[in-house]
Amino acid sequence: MKIIENYNLQQISFWKIGGVAKFYIEVDSAQELNQAFSFTTSKSVKAIVIGNATNLLFSDGLIDVAIIRLGVGFKNINVCGDTIEIGAGVSCQKLVRVCQVNALVGLEHIVGIPATIGGLIYMNGGSQRKTISENVLSVTSINDKGKMIVRTNKDCKFSYRKSIFQSKCDEVIISAKFTLERGSRNKSRKDCLQILKDRNSKFPRKLPSCGSVFISDPNMYNSFGPPGKIIESLGFKGVSIGDAEVSKKHANFIVNKGQAKAEDVLKLVVMINDSVKEKYGFLMTSEGLYINKAGEITPLHLAEV
Ligand SMILES: Cc1cc2nc3c(=O)[nH]c(=O)nc-3n(C[C@H](O)[C@H](O)[C@H](O)COP(=O)(O)OP(=O)(O)OC[C@H]3O[C@@H](n4cnc5c(N)ncnc54)[C@H](O)[C@@H]3O)c2cc1C
Repeated sequence: MKIIENYNLQQISFWKIGGVAKFYIEVDSAQELNQAFSFTTSKSVKAIVIGNATNLLFSDGLIDVAIIRLGVGFKNINVCGDTIEIGAGVSCQKLVRVCQVNALVGLEHIVGIPATIGGLIYMNGGSQRKTISENVLSVTSINDKGKMIVRTNKDCKFSYRKSIFQSKCDEVIISAKFTLERGSRNKSRKDCLQILKDRNSKFPRKLPSCGSVFISDPNMYNSFGPPGKIIESLGFKGVSIGDAEVSKKHANFIVNKGQAKAEDVLKLVVMINDSVKEKYGFLMTSEGLYINKAGEITPLHLAEV
């Protein structure tokens, strides 16, 4: 187990924003995970397990938290017929590649998402109007008392960008089983290339971001369109606070032009949400999550600025 005190979170933040966490811990086994929880309890500090930090905004300044990450011990992959069992620390890219090698199809939509499987299940992420939950057979987690829990797909209570794990802050997803279909390796490769091409043309790639800031509300979508279109219609493209800027390429992305602070991002989120509420009557919910100075996780739009 690796423990680092006073860890600068900018180095792991996808937004390249954030202050200093009291502890950063990397674990390689369930046993080490238990040890990490004992350590954080002994230090009376909150523990948060993260994936690749692609959906997280860390507070500026000193954060009273121990950030725990799953290391190589959680990157196991086991293919058995049409089923893949995979560690929560495996990247989406790797899972897509394993599927292709084994001519298994169905998860092409996650290509290009820079997340870990644990993080993607927690968020029930996906693209192309699909979510990871569609292929989940079961998810295994461990709680902070060391108890292992196996949930079926139904038990995971998946819905759009939601899973039961968002209400289980004492649990860590350690692995998942996926069911896939046999299919054409070539077609899968072609589909992935097309998806990557589309993503590259639509999303900002050059400046750090955390993907889409706001969730697409079906009612708002049906009446006015997706968040990006609505935010753009209000003239927000290119608007910035400090170095945090509403992307000129896609208005549902906030990019860091260099030295953006968490506070800048949060102020932009409030400014956008207030305008959308005033003009369209909808209060948007954020997809991105904020870790505040006390080590609590809240959606960006509910964070105190
Ligand atoms: C350029 C870019 C493009 C993106 N495109 C998409 C997209 O197309 N579709 C999409 O859905 N999302 C997209 N995202 C957002 C992001 O990748 C997803 O929200 C993803 O699910 C987060 O995974 P992560 O591993 O980075 O988790 P993190 O951001 O590290 O964590 C997110 C949450 O999950 C929890 N968590 C992570 N791992 C575990 C675990 N093992 N056990 C328990 N809890 C855990 C964390 O505590 C945190 O609350 C994009 C982000 C970026 C930067």
